[in-house]
Order: sequence, then structure tokens, then C-alpha cells
Amino acid sequence: MTEQAEVVIVGAGAAGLMAGIWAGRTFPHDSIVILDGARKLGAKILVAGGGRCNVTHDEVDANAYAGSSRNAIKKVLRRFDVPQTTAFFRELGVTLKREETGKLFPTTDSAQTVLDALLRAVREAGVMIQYPRRVQSIRKENDRFRVVGEWGEIEAKSFVLATGGRSLPKSGSDGQGYEMARSLGHQITRRIFPALVPLTLPKDHFICQLSGLTLPATIELYSSSGKKIAAFTDSTLCTHFGLSGPSILDFSRYYIDAKFDDPNAIATINWLPEMTTEQCEAELLALGRMSPARYLSQRMPERLARALCEQARIDSGTHGDQLTREQRKTLARTITRLELPISGNRGFTYAEVTAGGIPLSEIRLETMESRVCPGLYLCGEICDVDGRIGGYNFQWAWSSGYIAGVSVGRA
Ligand SMILES: Cc1cc2nc3c(=O)[nH]c(=O)nc-3n(C[C@H](O)[C@H](O)[C@H](O)COP(=O)(O)OP(=O)(O)OC[C@H]3O[C@@H](n4cnc5c(N)ncnc54)[C@H](O)[C@@H]3O)c2cc1C
Repeated sequence: MTEQAEVVIVGAGAAGLMAGIWAGRTFPHDSIVILDGARKLGAKILVAGGGRCNVTHDEVDANAYAGSSRNAIKKVLRRFDVPQTTAFFRELGVTLKREETGKLFPTTDSAQTVLDALLRAVREAGVMIQYPRRVQSIRKENDRFRVVGEWGEIEAKSFVLATGGRSLPKSGSDGQGYEMARSLGHQITRRIFPALVPLTLPKDHFICQLSGLTLPATIELYSSSGKKIAAFTDSTLCTHFGLSGPSILDFSRYYIDAKFDDPNAIATINWLPEMTTEQCEAELLALGRMSPARYLSQRMPERLARALCEQARIDSGTHGDQLTREQRKTLARTITRLELPISGNRGFTYAEVTAGGIPLSEIRLETMESRVCPGLYLCGEICDVDGRIGGYNFQWAWSSGYIAGVSVGRA
């Protein structure tokens, strides 16, 4: 027998739960069902922010996002902004604290608090969550959506697709939502790729031998014609496979994207972010009897200082005033503009978010209703929007989920 509901939401992640809460609050007489394929709910909320869940950021603006146009992204973020988000969580019993970086975390430092509060709010809004109920397909027949899985089928007047992207596929977000959107007439961006993802280097690269080392660095992206495309300065982590840390994660989507069209685009690292190559060269010139290795180890971990000298083929005992002009130039470049022979990335399994998805141009942003398929609403990571590290991706899920929720019963 086919079950009936007014609204079916597929996906009980951040966006789907938010949509469910606001749909339940706004349309209390409608029967609203959330379906999720996972055995345990909220996997991504629980792992976020190292188990502390970085709920949002103190200052969210569209410049922290990529994908669809910034104007379109701004329109959505404005409808449910950071003060509204913090007030919403406060009302749910989750107070947020601001860390020095501007990131907002629950005062409990526990992601479980966030998930429990959202699930409680869903229940209180009279919305039912059914899981594990993986959805295989969705059809629109006679103005009603027929949602089908191995468990049976549900028919609904309106349908919210909140299935996320492809990052962390074991959480249940494996990209099947894109197929469902396609089957209802949507385009998906030409590229779907991992973002906020660690980058790999050849196994024998010296950075891989520095595993565990963390320091602030600037990562820059240049086109093959030499134009600077992106630059991020933040904590950088050397690992056995290459590089990670906030600077690299933020950088990754720009690098991966650029490489599609410009295979010769170049990534560089500046280990002394406050210094240009010319300034570094001038400092090396003024070293006198001090060795470059000693000079560097006052500014960075000694292991790295030694490794950079080795890369520039400078003996650790060489004094500054013994360096040739060529050696000085090579060392300054190795320190401030070292080319990174990036061999790849760690893929969706290690990516925090997905770049690409359903273009916002196919969505009415006042309601998050599809322009292509009336009655269908889209929110969260399935949209072509990805944010920087720091709470921006959840903010997108809260804002777009809110809009879909308060609009969906009007269909
Ligand atoms: C390790 C990690 C850490 C992160 N940390 C942060 C952070 O601290 N701050 C931040 O802002 N962002 C963070 N993010 C990103 C953030 O978690 C996501 O952007 C956000 O959760 C996306 O929400 P969503 O609801 O759109 O999708 P998801 O959270 O992916 O939820 C989609 C849901 O849909 C379900 N689903 C998918 N397909 C089907 C189907 N066919 N049938 C039924 N159900 C289906 C899935 O089981 C899942 O529950 C992190 C991500 C990862 C992977």
C-alpha cells in the first residue's frame, strides 16, 4: 500500500532536519515525513568540527562561498542569518560560544548536544523521521511525488531533496540525490569534485618526511600564465601523504577546479607568510656569520628549516656571508615560493564538502522551490554551493533548509 503525506523530505542531515523543523512549525496541520537511508542519524553533525560541531561563523558573508553566483548565495544567507541561527539554537537549548577565529561552537563542546536538540525539535514540530529508509527513485505523477525504496513507497504533494553531496559517502551521502534531481528535470553542474580536502604529494617528497609538523603558511594558486588566482594563509599540516590543515582545505577546491581547465596551474607555499621573496632575500643577505639554517629555525620548526636548506642545496654549516647570489635566490624562493608538485587529493572519503551540484539559477531563492519541477524544494549541500572551513557549510544548510521548510507547505 502506498503511504500518503503532505510533505516528504529526503535526507535527515543538517538541511533536511532544519527544513523538517520549520515545515512542522509553519504548517502544523500537514503530515510531514523525513526519510533517511542511514542506520544512525546525524553522522556528519557528529563528526563535524572534530566532534564539537562548528555550527556557524560569527561573520558569514557570500565571499566565503564558491559555486553558484555570490549574489544568489547572499540572498539565501540573508533570509536566515547568523543572529537568527544563534537565536534558533538558543531556543533549542544550545548556547553557542565564539572562538578567537570567529567560529561558533556549542558551549558543551559536544556535537551530540546539537544533534539531540535538532531531533527533539523535529519531534516537537510533529514531524516523523523514518530510517533506515533509503530512497531509490522519485517520480512525479498527476502533481504528486511518488517516493520509492525497498521499504515501499510514499506519495506526497511536496518533496524536499536534502540528500547532501558526495563527501563522506559512508554517512549515506553518496550522490544519489543528484540522480533523483536529474530524473525530475534538473541539470547538475559540469563538475562535481571534493572540496575542503587534503592534497597529496609524491611519496618521496620531503614534505612527507615532515609528517606531524604544523605551522602557519600561505598557499597560492597561479594560472599557467602567471596570474594569481587564490591565496590562503592559515595553519598548515605536513602529513605522510602530503598536506592538510585549514589553509590547504580552503585552497583545495580552487586548485582542483583550476586544474580541469588549466592543467599547468601552479600551487606554491610560503613558509614565512609575512615575507615576500624579495624581503627574504634581503634578510638572507644581512645574515653575516649566522647560518641560514639557524636563521630559519628561529622562525619555524628546526626540522623544516634544515629540510628547506637541503632543498636549496645549502650545507647547514654555511654562513650567510658565504652564500652565492644564486644560492640566496634559490633559498629565498624555496622558503617563500616553493612549487608544490601536487599529485592529487584524498577524495570524497576525506572531503568535508562537495563542490558543484544543482545550480542556484534553477531554484527560486525566495522559497528554494525548483524552477524546473514545481513542488520540489532543494536545500543544503546538494546545491552548487560550498563554503570555506569555519562553519560556513552548516550555515548554508541552516539558511537554505529554513527557507525550504517555511515554504514547502504552500505548494
Ligand atoms: C568530517 C566533516 C567535518 C565537517 N565539519 C564541519 C563543520 O565543523 N562546520 C561546517 O559548517 N561544516 C562541516 N562539514 C560540512 C557539513 O557537515 C555539510 O556541509 C552539511 O552537513 C551538509 O548538510 P546536508 O544536510 O546538506 O547533507 P548531509 O549532512 O550529507 O545529509 C544528507 C542526508 O541524506 C541522506 N541520504 C542521502 N541519499 C539518500 C537516499 N537516496 N535516501 C535516503 N537518504 C539519503 C544521508 O544519509 C544523510 O543523512 C563537515 C563535513 C565533514 C565530512
